Amino acid sequence: MTADRFARHHRVPGWNQNSLLRATVAIIGVGALGNVVAQILAQAGVGRLILCDPDIVEASNLSRTPLFRREQIGAAKVDAAAATLAAMAPGIELSPRQAALVSGVGLAELRDADMVIGCLDSRAARVRLAGRCGLVRAPWIDAGTSPWGGEVRPYLDADGPCYSCSLTAAERSIGDAPHSCANMAPAPAAGAHVAASSLVASWTATLALRVLMSLPVAARTIRIDGERGQAGLIEESRDPDCPFHDPIDPIPAHRRLPLSHRATVAELVRALEPESRILLWQPAMREARCLGCGHCDNSWARVERRPCPRCGEPLWPRTATSLRGAPPALRLCDVGVAPREILAVETPSGISAIELAHR
Ligand SMILES: [Zn+2]
Ligand SMILES: [Zn+2]
Repeated sequence: MTADRFARHHRVPGWNQNSLLRATVAIIGVGALGNVVAQILAQAGVGRLILCDPDIVEASNLSRTPLFRREQIGAAKVDAAAATLAAMAPGIELSPRQAALVSGVGLAELRDADMVIGCLDSRAARVRLAGRCGLVRAPWIDAGTSPWGGEVRPYLDADGPCYSCSLTAAERSIGDAPHSCANMAPAPAAGAHVAASSLVASWTATLALRVLMSLPVAARTIRIDGERGQAGLIEESRDPDCPFHDPIDPIPAHRRLPLSHRATVAELVRALEPESRILLWQPAMREARCLGCGHCDNSWARVERRPCPRCGEPLWPRTATSLRGAPPALRLCDVGVAPREILAVETPSGISAIELAHR
């Protein structure tokens, strides 16, 4: 059955079906670009896809997303995509994550994936993905559309230019905006259509497949201009002052803990040396305090942005960047720790890293 499905591939020079079947690709963003990239990789026979996106299917997605159906409006994008992919490519292993990148895919997963593909729609999200891929030297490809084309930017060599090298300090810092700034008015959605997103996604998938099969690629930015009918390569250079070139040291075996992201704070604390401070990659909501009557909701994961239940004044949220003071029964995933995350731990003798297991 598998042999039949891939019969036409065998006549493609250099095609190596087995290397695709063994490969894991993480697709970050399952909108218009991610739909087409996932569809192509699944049909080409990539063995395992991790799909990460926090959003749900909306009616306005349906003009550009071949994996979504009208009856899936309101469902998680990753679940809708996985359902269609499972029917289209039986035998593929799908790992849908309805979460933002930092909570959805751990650093050890990015490190161990054969390829990471960014199908994102904002610079802040790209900066975040570039930062995480840089921490574990993960090869990745960034795809982005313009009204009649777009760019495919491969970052395959951790010692070459990275996505952040071409940005100014101000552009990079957008990715660091704390969650409390998230109530700024969102930028209006850019105009987009299925021809441009399919074109860029197909080019991205072509590059990814060649890399997965160890075929040579031009590892430079490809700019696709559908208006003029042109595509060209753009040379980028590595900025020695770029702050994204500081990877985490390899994790020694004794720092790979037999605990998952579903472990509790108490279990993690027990596994570490005394006085360890567990640092988080993104701030966790620690408490919400009322400036009117002093009421304080300090339940961490369950802290809600709502008016004070006692006096109706707005509650002011406070965030934490470490798990110090967190309730012992709190699960790591409840504060946004991703599966197979690598976390920094601070002790009196310095900072080191620990790696969480899959289960
Ligand atoms: Zn850089
Ligand atoms: Zn109050």
